[in-house]
Amino acid sequence: MAFKERVFSGVQPTGNLHLGNYLGAITKFVALQERYDCIYCVVDMHAITVWQDPAELPRATREVTAAFLACGINPKKHIIFNQSQVAEHAELAWVFNCIARIGWLNRMTQFKEKAGKDRENASVGLYVYPNLMAADILAYRATHVPVGEDQKQHLELSRDVAQKFNNDYADSIHSHGYGEAFFPLPEPIIQGPATRVMSLRDGSKKMSKSEPSDYSRINLTDDADTIAQKVRKAKTDPEPLPGEEKGLTSRPEAENLVGIYAALQGTSKAQVLGEFGGAQFSTFKGALVDLAVAKLGPLAAEMKKLTQDPVYIDSVLAEGSARAQAIAAETMKAVKDIVGFIRH
Ligand code: ATP
Ligand code: MG
Repeated sequence: MAFKERVFSGVQPTGNLHLGNYLGAITKFVALQERYDCIYCVVDMHAITVWQDPAELPRATREVTAAFLACGINPKKHIIFNQSQVAEHAELAWVFNCIARIGWLNRMTQFKEKAGKDRENASVGLYVYPNLMAADILAYRATHVPVGEDQKQHLELSRDVAQKFNNDYADSIHSHGYGEAFFPLPEPIIQGPATRVMSLRDGSKKMSKSEPSDYSRINLTDDADTIAQKVRKAKTDPEPLPGEEKGLTSRPEAENLVGIYAALQGTSKAQVLGEFGGAQFSTFKGALVDLAVAKLGPLAAEMKKLTQDPVYIDSVLAEGSARAQAIAAETMKAVKDIVGFIRH
């Protein structure tokens, strides 16, 4: 069966947005607007799977919304909203809690990393996070999901949930007139030279909002001096840059900076090395600072302007939530019928 093509993705309001979120996710969100109907969500319910200060969460939610807008997502043509305003996400997640298997969740590396050593003390929400993510996507029966490389495993779980729902309820789906399958199997969109931007301090760890060291990341709100300082301090090795991509093997820090440069410039790593092969890091870092400041500076200014108008931001979220809810409510009605819940 052919499903209507639709894009869904989300960003957590867990702290400072950084270059990884921008290059791995938000720039993709922007580009996909041309070809698809898109729904972009500030996933505040995901955020509270680890402790969030209730005095801080609204600011972070508005900041992610401001970033979506500043980067060029059109909230009239597409939908921007925050997750907690559409109750169907939680409702569908419950059904999926009963579809997904404990064994599937036990394999999730994000839970292992975020729970750390004291797994017994992690929230149950952190454990079932992937089921809520499946619900986010499938509440809209979305077909395409732009994400960074780190979310690939969760996307696979979303597909498994959709598939198992379609199988377990096949007869009911058919008898309610939904044909062979009710949910599409959502496709991840993970492309380009910066699908996994690494920490500037440690080329083996991904750049994260929740990493304590601010020097590990470039925040979207950093000013030019801060960006320059962080890039200059970024870990590298003593060799000059290679002329070809295979020369980046086993040089994670070099590969990371080259990937960042390529993504910011909209080219490939090979092209960047064509230009900078043989150069010392001091030269390359100087060029990277100039490029990053040129690309991120106007964004930061626009985000700052937008966040000074929380009434406008909240109106975007309210309007987006109402439009999202209209779609999700239809899905949820159908799911109730398929599962066998009485409704009036
Ligand atoms: P947290 O540490 O709280 O999980 P995060 O930095 O991982 O924060 P998320 O809100 O979880 O940010 O992810 C938002 C989007 O950004 C997702 O699509 C995710 O795959 C992408 N993303 C996150 N970090 C990176 C990164 N280092 N490189 C590329 N994409 C990333
Ligand atoms: Mg994350």
